[in-house]
Amino acid sequence: MTDRATPNENENDDKRPVGKNFIRVIIEKDIAENKNNGRVHTRFPPEPNGYLHIGHAKSICLNFGLAKEYGGLYNLRFDDTNPSKEEEEYVESIKEDIRWLGFDWEDRLFYASDYYEQLYEYAIQLIKMGKAYVCDLNADQIREYRGTLKEPGKDSPYRNRSVEENLDLFERMHAGEFDEGTHVLRAKIDMSSPNLNMRDPVMYRILKATHHRTGDKWCIYPMYDFAHGQSDSIEKVTHSICTLEFEDHRPLYEWFIEQLGIFRPQQIEFARLNLNYTVMSKRKLLTLVQRKLVSGWDDPRMPTISGFRRRGYTPESIRDFAERIGVSKADSTVDIGLLEHCLREDLNKRAMRVMGVLDPLKVVIENYPEGKVEDIEAVNNPEDESMGNRMVPFSREIYIERDDFREDPPKKYFRLSPGTEVRLKHAYYIRCEKVIKDEKTGEIIELRCSYDPESRGGFTPDARKVKGTLHWVSIPHAVKAEVRLYDHLFIKEDPGQEEEGKTFIDYLNPHSLEVTEGFIEPNLASAKVGERFQFMRHGYFSVDPDSKPDALVFNRTVSLRDSWAKIEQKADA
Ligand code: ATP
Ligand code: MG
Repeated sequence: MTDRATPNENENDDKRPVGKNFIRVIIEKDIAENKNNGRVHTRFPPEPNGYLHIGHAKSICLNFGLAKEYGGLYNLRFDDTNPSKEEEEYVESIKEDIRWLGFDWEDRLFYASDYYEQLYEYAIQLIKMGKAYVCDLNADQIREYRGTLKEPGKDSPYRNRSVEENLDLFERMHAGEFDEGTHVLRAKIDMSSPNLNMRDPVMYRILKATHHRTGDKWCIYPMYDFAHGQSDSIEKVTHSICTLEFEDHRPLYEWFIEQLGIFRPQQIEFARLNLNYTVMSKRKLLTLVQRKLVSGWDDPRMPTISGFRRRGYTPESIRDFAERIGVSKADSTVDIGLLEHCLREDLNKRAMRVMGVLDPLKVVIENYPEGKVEDIEAVNNPEDESMGNRMVPFSREIYIERDDFREDPPKKYFRLSPGTEVRLKHAYYIRCEKVIKDEKTGEIIELRCSYDPESRGGFTPDARKVKGTLHWVSIPHAVKAEVRLYDHLFIKEDPGQEEEGKTFIDYLNPHSLEVTEGFIEPNLASAKVGERFQFMRHGYFSVDPDSKPDALVFNRTVSLRDSWAKIEQKADA
């Protein structure tokens, strides 16, 4: 383990020692050997066909984080080669998400579509070298001719067209003379290569679609595989870090670069992030949005960056998570509990601890004077004295949590029951004197209690011990709020693994959202959208964008129960 090299100014303030993963080893070796004059330049290349998810966050933290760490530069480049699925809305959301994560690409925002002219020139160059040809086979035939992993492919009957004929046909494709699907431009490589990507892959196809940036200027579009590597090369990207599925494409990217004699980035692959109880494919996430199974891309149950943001996650916790999961070459699934653990660690230090009752039971303190109100001092966060104190009003009528009272308490029940005494957090000791029930239903509707005036602040002069401490709110002062409680979006650990006759939709958790009404201490009446709090004993909450000054809405970001803390403690022991 080594310490992070030179922390950048606006780098996160986390000083945790970081492991030297295999990508760092490669980069440090390149720097030591003065490869590319010691330059480190990376990029994040999203396709603007959906919102970013937590897997993309891993890739962003890795690509941009490494460049920062080694004093290099990083680009944001939209790989927008598929006009039919791409939209400006996605471009904007991606930019917003990356900024929120804490990265600034300065003036290095690019689009593959910036390079359409250059890519077209490259294609002509390859045709002239006899390395590319126009093929009239249709998509099905091309697939048929490609062969399989066991069988070599067959040459296209159009493979040996002359350079002149190819130049003429490609120019006519470009001019819009042909219909979609009638012609493609293919690289002339090797139809018997063991690597299917090398069997004369398609470089250009005809698409009479309007592009979100170039409009109707083009009717031929480069394939991702022809655009991606050259775009990295044009940008002089030194380390082109991508996910494992591109490993088999690397020989093709290198072939193009070599034929064209242009700058050669080094591609390094790592395993993509999978999280349990969710799906990460953009196609599946889009299905959830389109079928209105969630409220949108930023639904707090979505694994999207915008979903996590709305839910109340901090960018710091996501960056910490990305660092902790590390990078490897082996596919694995990460427990969502680890992400939640990173979040709790962060919020524990900075969220103000307040009181909110989500399932209220009325308590009347019979010996407390009617009409009297006391301001009780409460610590904002015992982890951080600098966060100071605040005043919370206390009165004769309060709510406690229904679950904090049992008429017939089981053994080891330390909360309130008839005749027992508990502490009200920051306030007084109370004893339950009487239980009032609805005559018809038998439901407990109210408790009559007494308080010990000597116990103000939660301690008595005789240091009498009580086992339980309850949170509470004063009824006349409490603020009503809508509270949204979340559970996993899917009931199955791996919802992407679809059993026969089922789709991932069948594994949606019907209880993933539960809406309830809570009563919150009045200090939160003016809470702003995005503000985060710990509701004592309930978890961390944040103010949802749906919230209005007279109709507060809180999301439960995460509960307090942390299975990962226990796992870490065991590992340390
Ligand atoms: P999908 O397959 O869901 O459509 P994608 O990988 O095609 O997603 P891109 O927009 O092409 O989406 O992704 C941009 C970058 O993010 C790529 O370099 C890709 O390797 C990386 N990436 C995508 N998903 C993950 C993931 N789960 N973990 C790590 N990196 C990822
Ligand atoms: Mg992709």
